[in-house]
Amino acid sequence: MYNWQTEQRDYLNNMLRANKFPHALLFSGPDGTGKKQFAAEYAKKLLCSSEQDEACGHCHSCQVFAADTHPDYLHVAPLDEGKAIAVDVIRELIVKLSKTSQFGGKTVAIIDNAEQLNRNSANALLKTLEEPTPDTILVLVCSYPHRLLPTIRSRCLQIAFPVPEKSAALGYLQQQNIDDAELYLQLSHGSPLTACQVAGSELAEQRKSVLKILIKTSRGQAISPALKEIEKIPLKATLDWSIDFCDDLIRVKSQGDQADITHIDVRDVLSKMAACCQIQALYGVRDLLIERKKQSNIALNTQLLLEDLLILWKQAFKTA
Ligand SMILES: [Zn+2]
Repeated sequence: MYNWQTEQRDYLNNMLRANKFPHALLFSGPDGTGKKQFAAEYAKKLLCSSEQDEACGHCHSCQVFAADTHPDYLHVAPLDEGKAIAVDVIRELIVKLSKTSQFGGKTVAIIDNAEQLNRNSANALLKTLEEPTPDTILVLVCSYPHRLLPTIRSRCLQIAFPVPEKSAALGYLQQQNIDDAELYLQLSHGSPLTACQVAGSELAEQRKSVLKILIKTSRGQAISPALKEIEKIPLKATLDWSIDFCDDLIRVKSQGDQADITHIDVRDVLSKMAACCQIQALYGVRDLLIERKKQSNIALNTQLLLEDLLILWKQAFKTA
């Protein structure tokens, strides 16, 4: 468990001591805050034969858990990123949950990325939530709880995992020897585990390329060379970084130099850009980007989209 998760741990431990532990939990919060890791650690603690605040790490249960062979620990996640959790997988989980635990204690099941349950798998799960087997605990882990069926949500006790306090997150990044920790934390909207992934990754390089193209275009560079450059970058990275950059510019334009922004390493450039752009045009670019991001699973004419983006972007600075 991370040091910013003690509140959630204590809350759960108090319910456990009071014999009021729910049979279904929903851990929700942004990506990159460590809720999956917490769920696994807490499952280990629920199965541990000691009664300490956290799993002891020494008992037989903890040892088989560490070896990933605990018979009373079940874990389900989508097979591929973005794919649904199939109904067969949930049916299999329900059968296992209906049997008595092999170690004679609890059975704990975790469903990661629970927002990816499809209608059939969600309905199959609903029956188990309505009529739980004694001594079973189901933990749904989810970054987008509003995408769950309301009937599923209402049958789980929801525990929030918000982004940690900035000081705790920065302390963690420094422990991990991340250079420019503050920048990467901002780029990850406060999620420390995402910041670790972004630092030194291709994504960080792609960000530099996207920003360079957008800055040059704002200064009047022609569209066609910019298009050639931007086409080389994965579309998702272009959309994500452009949305953040556009948001930053809108914030600086409306709140001034002290605005809370994402790309803190280019604050000076943003200030200069904000002085010569039209805010309405920026909102137009932003709407286009958000709309296209929502359609990201549909085959798009990428070239046309990028051309639209660059033209609108250039226009935002043209007549300011
Ligand atoms: Zn133990």
